[in-house]
Amino acid sequence: MHVGLTDEEESLRRRAEELSRNMIAPRAAEVDRSEAYPWNNVHDLTEAGFMGMTVSKQYGGQGRSFLDAVLVVEEMAKSCTVTARIVVEANMGAISAIMAYGSEEQKKLAAGLVLAGDKPAICITEPDAGSDALALKTRADRRGNGYVLNGGKHWITGAGVSRLHLIFARVFDETGQDLGVGGFIALRDEDEGLKMVHREPTMGLRGIPEGELAFEDLVLPADRLVMPPGGLAKGFTALINAYNSQRVGAGTVAMGVAAGALDHAIAWVREREQFGRPIGEFQGIQWMLADMQTQLSASRLMLHAAARSNGPDGSPFPDPMLAAQAKIHASEAAIRIVNDALQMYGARGYSRNLPLERMARDVRMFTIGGGTAQVLRTLVASRMLGWKLPQTRDGYLSKAGQGRD
Ligand SMILES: Cc1cc2nc3c(=O)[nH]c(=O)nc-3n(C[C@H](O)[C@H](O)[C@H](O)COP(=O)(O)OP(=O)(O)OC[C@H]3O[C@@H](n4cnc5c(N)ncnc54)[C@H](O)[C@@H]3O)c2cc1C
Repeated sequence: MHVGLTDEEESLRRRAEELSRNMIAPRAAEVDRSEAYPWNNVHDLTEAGFMGMTVSKQYGGQGRSFLDAVLVVEEMAKSCTVTARIVVEANMGAISAIMAYGSEEQKKLAAGLVLAGDKPAICITEPDAGSDALALKTRADRRGNGYVLNGGKHWITGAGVSRLHLIFARVFDETGQDLGVGGFIALRDEDEGLKMVHREPTMGLRGIPEGELAFEDLVLPADRLVMPPGGLAKGFTALINAYNSQRVGAGTVAMGVAAGALDHAIAWVREREQFGRPIGEFQGIQWMLADMQTQLSASRLMLHAAARSNGPDGSPFPDPMLAAQAKIHASEAAIRIVNDALQMYGARGYSRNLPLERMARDVRMFTIGGGTAQVLRTLVASRMLGWKLPQTRDGYLSKAGQGRD
């Protein structure tokens, strides 16, 4: 059940539901089996106006809200986790950071790509900089009219398929002075020196590559540096706050997978008979169903509240604490819900002929990517206590979206 949607939001949700059921669901098993990026789904999403729907009308989008995007993401996730993640990244995260803080040229470039079907890649994580994102070593050295980037990233979603990249690097001026961390726009197939060197063999989410990128003298014009208000000193905080939208998106993917698994479970327990009656008549099953639904509803309410919120200091992105709480709850509840749905299918749930095992593999990711459940708890607690985060460089837990004073 969706609470408090306007007629327009409900009509958008239904349109997404229809596309998901009729076009996306029939292809989901093959996306997983082939591990191939679902370009046909991207085509359908583009036709439906779901790629770049949060881009403002001025740049060719529809100027839709994060809540609108969340409604579409949930419907896609019921059928295909990979497709739902594409919708997240085409409307939240890197694209929303560029649309909020980019120059005119940067906004036009990014909007054009995403509206044509590109899923941007956000490039933060490095081998030695995971939760502690500010430990990143990728550097951007100023040379004449541009920057030269060297370093690398790993676990980049869409590596090798995305054209638009937002790369976080430590910026140095001509004299070698460290100016702080900035985000650079780079384009695959256009900017030499941006290379994919490895694809990770993942447990789930197999239709979207998770890759390692190397930057070897990647030369970018100076106007590819996205410069939020406050310049580089404060800029990283603003840019990384965009991650709170992606975090709400990731939580919604998990919640949508759980909703899809629950739909399967409800149909199955009505139909499957043991001891002369449908298994849905047993109280043991009914109580499981009720708990699953309750957790799902709580996740949805928290995610919608986070999507509707704004962060402190006029940030156009969701409030970091609401986003963190929603992602913690939704991702952990989703793992339990999918697991319980699989359990209700008995042996059949363990078969690759049914989607439950795929959903169980896919959903496991969401307590890890986009800020782990532990790190997000640290963010929530630190906000509750009014403390700066103690255990990271500079007292700053960057991926958690906490700002440095
Ligand atoms: C499928 C997938 C897609 C991803 N896509 C992207 C992407 O597109 N772009 C990108 O930049 N990154 C991406 N990531 C990387 C992701 O953001 C990181 O994996 C995540 O931030 C955690 O970093 P890490 O894996 O290095 O784990 P680590 O930081 O090494 O953490 C290891 C463990 O220690 C715990 N831990 C760490 N610090 C603390 C602390 N202070 N308190 C308590 N516990 C702590 C963690 O919770 C975790 O359990 C992706 C990851 C996955 C799995």
